[in-house]
Amino acid sequence: MGYKVAVVGATGNVGREILQTLSERAFPIDDIVALASDRSVGHEISFGETDVLKVRSLSDFDFTGFDVGLFSPGGPVSAKFAPKAAEAGCVVIDNSSHFRMEPDIPLVVPEVNPDALILHSKRKIIANPNCSTIQMVMALKPLHDAAKINRVVVSTYQSTSGAGKAAMDELFNQTRGIFANDTLVNAQFTKQIAFNVIPHIDVFMDDGMTKEEWKMVVETKKIIDPDIKVFATCVRVPVFVGHGESVTVELANELTVDQARGLLRGMPGVTVIDHRADEGYVTPSEAAGDDMVYVSRIRKDPTVRNGLGFWVVSDNLRKGAALNAVQIAELLFEVVPAPDQENSAGMVMQIPLEDQ
Ligand code: NAP
Repeated sequence: MGYKVAVVGATGNVGREILQTLSERAFPIDDIVALASDRSVGHEISFGETDVLKVRSLSDFDFTGFDVGLFSPGGPVSAKFAPKAAEAGCVVIDNSSHFRMEPDIPLVVPEVNPDALILHSKRKIIANPNCSTIQMVMALKPLHDAAKINRVVVSTYQSTSGAGKAAMDELFNQTRGIFANDTLVNAQFTKQIAFNVIPHIDVFMDDGMTKEEWKMVVETKKIIDPDIKVFATCVRVPVFVGHGESVTVELANELTVDQARGLLRGMPGVTVIDHRADEGYVTPSEAAGDDMVYVSRIRKDPTVRNGLGFWVVSDNLRKGAALNAVQIAELLFEVVPAPDQENSAGMVMQIPLEDQ
């Protein structure tokens, strides 16, 4: 049996990756539509090896008869159209931040809190967490289950693709412009992003935190445990795809580095690459295009009681957005991914390699 699937925001970074992920994992589909703004109507997007989808307008689309809508058109558009789709009987999996903290909307990372999905029956909307939150909670969960995390301090190194396709173009154009001596245009970011880093993602809040930092705090509490304290600093870096995070945790109970490594190795969807040598860790460009969350540089933080530090990297468009959304759809409809995807999917992953 196949499903009727609508991909909303299909021309964007996340939407295109959703189409790719659905195809790679052979999600059973009877009918699929690609929806975007009126600007893109009639544009063609490839789906799988051979299919081409003609983009249709979201504004007048009738979701009746569709089983699932994978949404990534941005917060205001999701706010308007996700409830309409849900009213028509189509379950929405939304990538924007709009619904995430509403108490009757589940916020789900399938490997971490699959049971939360049960909440979806109320409003037929499921929220996909922020990309930086997803990769961090994938690493926190096994440590929390074993030794209870009291506090997390995280600094992110977030790629430009996290801000959409226009932001990636800005990095490209500024980089080229510097070599060509052109005037640089800052339209997507508040400051020059080429050859620079910017400690400011999303808007500032009254307490001095940015909204991106606040998202990491409240989403981690909602997904894992309301008692975990999180302090985040979110930074945009001149990388196209892949977010890095430096994470330090304070545990209630002691874990040795080897125990932490073993717990992380056993977490579906996580791969540990941690050699204390040149190239013994993973960087964003190596994680780009990959489904895994990579953990490296695991070590004791001797400055606090039961402290551990580590480095987490993942493709923000894959596990940070599209893959997580498609995994939610698989969980919802009890779909098993294509066999050759099982090891890259997390859900059925075993990690036998010594190296990991
Ligand atoms: P993007 O590359 O800028 O793409 C935006 C998409 O939304 C395009 O398909 C665009 O269509 C569509 N859209 C814009 N206005 C629309 C409208 N009025 N009606 C219908 N469609 C409209 O952005 P993105 O990176 O894919 O991100 C999209 C959303 O996912 C954002 O809420 C973002 O916060 C969230 N998200 C992103 C990431 C990430 O790492 N990128 C991770 C998690 C969550 P047109 O091409 O026709 O304009």
